[in-house]
Amino acid sequence: MHTFEVVILGASGGPDAGATQCFLVRPAGWQGLESVCVDGGAGTSQIARMIASGQCKRQVESFYANDYESVEHFLDKDAYVDAGLPLSLCEVLAPARSTAQRAFRVYQAIRSYYVTHAHLDHIAAMVLDTPLIFGTEQPCSKTICGLPFTTQAIQQNIFNDAVWPNLLQGGGGLLRLDTLRSGIPTTCQAFEKVEVTPFPVNHGMGASERHEVYSTVYLFRDKTTGNCILICGDVEPDGDKEPLLAQVWSHIAANVPLDKLKAIIIECSSTMATKELYGHLGPRNLVEELTHLQGLYGPHALGHMHVIITHVKSICSYRDPRLVILEEVRKEASRAGLHGIIFSVAVRGYTFHL
Ligand SMILES: [Zn+2]
Ligand SMILES: [Zn+2]
Repeated sequence: MHTFEVVILGASGGPDAGATQCFLVRPAGWQGLESVCVDGGAGTSQIARMIASGQCKRQVESFYANDYESVEHFLDKDAYVDAGLPLSLCEVLAPARSTAQRAFRVYQAIRSYYVTHAHLDHIAAMVLDTPLIFGTEQPCSKTICGLPFTTQAIQQNIFNDAVWPNLLQGGGGLLRLDTLRSGIPTTCQAFEKVEVTPFPVNHGMGASERHEVYSTVYLFRDKTTGNCILICGDVEPDGDKEPLLAQVWSHIAANVPLDKLKAIIIECSSTMATKELYGHLGPRNLVEELTHLQGLYGPHALGHMHVIITHVKSICSYRDPRLVILEEVRKEASRAGLHGIIFSVAVRGYTFHL
C-alpha cells in the first residue's frame, strides 16, 4: 500500500527554465483534484504536457549521449512509477474537454505551495502562473508557505509591484503568504490527514555579500498510518556551520519509526568530478548523510527506503549527468555499506507512488 503520490512537474537544478524543481503531492489514490506543491519551478505548461502525453511510458528527454533515454535507466526496478498524472486525478478531470481546461483545473486545485527557498529555480513558474488565480468565474485561492527567510524574500523581492504585481496585497485575499515555524507541524490545507513540518538547512553563501543562505526540508506525515516522506530543497552538508541537517536527521530518527519512513527526495546537484558545490550536495555528501541517518537508526537500517535524487544541474558533457550521478551514488552507497536503498532519479513527467 502506498501513502503518497508525488508527481514530478520539474526536477532540474537549472538552467532549464520551466522544468526546475516542483513536486505535486497528494495522498495515494485521492479521489479529488486537490494537491499541494513543494516548490514552484514548473507549473501549468508542464501539467498540460503531462495531460497531453497521457499514461503511455515514453522516452525521457536527455539531449546527451542520446536525445532520448529509456525511463528504466533512471529508476530502480523496485520503484513504483507511472508516466503522467495519477490515474485517480485523471478520472476526476475527464469531463473537461481541452488539455488547457484540464491543466487549468489541476492548477486551480493546488491549495498550497511549500516553498523551500526563494531562489528563482524554485518559484519562477509559481509566480508566472499567479494571474490564472483571478481569470475565471470561480476564482481559486492559494497559500504560499515557507519559513520566515522564504516568505520575507518572496514578499520583498517578488510581489513588490516592480518585479511582479503585488498580488499578496492587491489580490483580494486570493493569494496569501503563511509563515511557518521551524520544527512545528501544521495540518495540510488540502488534506486534513496530512501534516507538514518544515526544518531549515544550510544552502551555501551569498555570491556578493558573504552571508549564510538557508533552504528548507519538509517532512510530510500521514496521520492515519504514520507513514512519512521527506522532501528537500537545495541543501549542503553542515560542515562547520550550525548543524541544521544533523538536527533534521536526529528529529527523524527520534520521531519516525524506520518502517514508516518511506522516502527521501533529496538533491544531488553535481557529479563527483565537480570541485565546487556552491551550497549543494554531491554523491559522496549524499551517501555520507544517509550513512549518518543509518547510524542513528542502528546497524540494520534504511533498506527498502526510496531515495529519489533531484536537482541535477544541466552541464556541457557527453553523458547525462543524472545517469552519472545515479551510478556514482549507488557505487558510493555500496562502498559505505548502505544496502537495499531504492535509488532513483526524479524524472519530469512521471508520478512516484511512495
Ligand atoms: Zn535550486
Ligand atoms: Zn538554491
